[in-house]
Amino acid sequence: MKFHLLTIFPEFFEGPFRHGVVARAAQAGSLELLTHDLRTWTHDLHRTVDDRPFGGGEGMLMKPQPIFDAVETIWPERTERQRVILLSAQGRKFTQQIAREYLQYDELLFICGRYEGVDERVAERLADDELSIGDYVLSGGELAAAVVIDAVARLLPGVLGNQDSAMNESFEDGILDCPQWTRPADFRGWKAPDILLSGNHAEVRKWRRQAAEAKTRRLRPDLLGS
Ligand code: SAM
Repeated sequence: MKFHLLTIFPEFFEGPFRHGVVARAAQAGSLELLTHDLRTWTHDLHRTVDDRPFGGGEGMLMKPQPIFDAVETIWPERTERQRVILLSAQGRKFTQQIAREYLQYDELLFICGRYEGVDERVAERLADDELSIGDYVLSGGELAAAVVIDAVARLLPGVLGNQDSAMNESFEDGILDCPQWTRPADFRGWKAPDILLSGNHAEVRKWRRQAAEAKTRRLRPDLLGS
């Protein structure tokens, strides 16, 4: 899968994508990350990407022209297997289910907002999706795009060593993952549950399901519809 990032800070992504699963997947050729400097599509001396909001108010807004020109240059003919995603605090909330939905596309293009946000015509006329990573306001869409790319990338075939590890994680069947322990079995007098050391796989499976449900009830009752 190809991930495009449209941003005024292309160097931002050198950090998040230099380590771990996404970096390894890029090196192995399972995915491609392409950053595009939005200022490439400006035509003035100062390479301006922002302007004052109509009606007044605080701060500046990102102008539509460089963003439209960029997307239309990157994809002169858009296909149904490409998706333009505008990162925005006002968007629909990103979930594991949406990460799985994105697997159907060959290419995703992320528009990273800055300042007080982006001219609304980008959401209305250019983006397929306006996406938020949670109910809080970040200073830019770059961090949000990195979050979405990380979540999607680890679902791509061959990216995680063991594909089951993605299937058994939190949210995949509507509840949280089960709590887990590793060695030592007794750490400072706090013991791992005996059942996990028993070697009885059927009982371990049953216990883990119950523990996952209990943890979900305690910390995320909203997932259970209560
Ligand atoms: N004035 C906007 C509002 O209140 O909805 C916030 C603009 S924010 C300071 C600048 C940019 O950060 C946004 O255009 C968006 O790209 C990004 N951003 C902020 N919060 C986000 C969130 N929760 N999810 C995704 N992107 C976010």
